[in-house]
Amino acid sequence: MGLRYNVYLDSNRIYTCKKCKTHLSNHEDIISRNFRGQHGKAFLFSMVVNVNETQPVERNMTTGRHIVRDIKCRQCEIVVGWKYDKAYEVQEQYKENKFILEAELLSQATYLNPPIFPPFPTFAPSKKRRVYKAVKPQSNPIVNQQSHGD
Ligand SMILES: [Zn+2]
Repeated sequence: MGLRYNVYLDSNRIYTCKKCKTHLSNHEDIISRNFRGQHGKAFLFSMVVNVNETQPVERNMTTGRHIVRDIKCRQCEIVVGWKYDKAYEVQEQYKENKFILEAELLSQATYLNPPIFPPFPTFAPSKKRRVYKAVKPQSNPIVNQQSHGD
């Protein structure tokens, strides 16, 4: 279970998808809480993980014209917010390449002791003596099936 998680966050305070609890971002990565989404309150984050981006579209917002992409939870595919590709107004350009997550669609997980997750992929069985290099999050999860079970 959970193999579709590509990235585990290890912050003390994590925002997760409310529906499936996939890790989405860290509390420390909030830039602003002063945003509004389709469901009300929304936060601007510098970094979001475990989401898929849709095609860019131009959207007129209260702060002007932007090119944005909806972002979907990679696990349950619910739209959790959007990413700003481009802002036409100079004073809005700090939002470019940043992410909005809708507060209504988030849950918070708080850890007193952050769980330690092994880097992906996990260690290989010793007899194989395989050395793993850093693998991009998108790489094939099949690699992981060789590690022993629980
Ligand atoms: Zn989800």
